[in-house]
Amino acid sequence: MHELGICRSLIDVALGALAERETTQRATSLQVEIGRFTAVVPDSLRFYFEVLSRGTLLEGAELNIESVPLRTRCRSCALEAEPELPSLLCPQCEGVVEIVTGRELRLVSVDVPEEAA
Ligand SMILES: [Zn+2]
Repeated sequence: MHELGICRSLIDVALGALAERETTQRATSLQVEIGRFTAVVPDSLRFYFEVLSRGTLLEGAELNIESVPLRTRCRSCALEAEPELPSLLCPQCEGVVEIVTGRELRLVSVDVPEEAA
């Protein structure tokens, strides 16, 4: 159910972007960045997108999901690592790490066909 709420907000943002451009064309594709730490399942997000976009300008648009790896930086020794599991300890000194990337959940762009001249 995690993905349902996320999908709703992505669609809201995308429709807002289309409204700003004052386009009445349907979007062809959307680019989104999703960090691994968000635990979003891309297939699940695609499924909700298909359902929730019906009847909107986003219907039929391709959802391109870019997965952003989890990257952490140690607060003590500054070592950067890409832990397999979200282990929040530094592999070098066991210090506390902070998340550098992996929390992204961002609509990068919405593409619409060029307006016919
Ligand atoms: Zn460290």
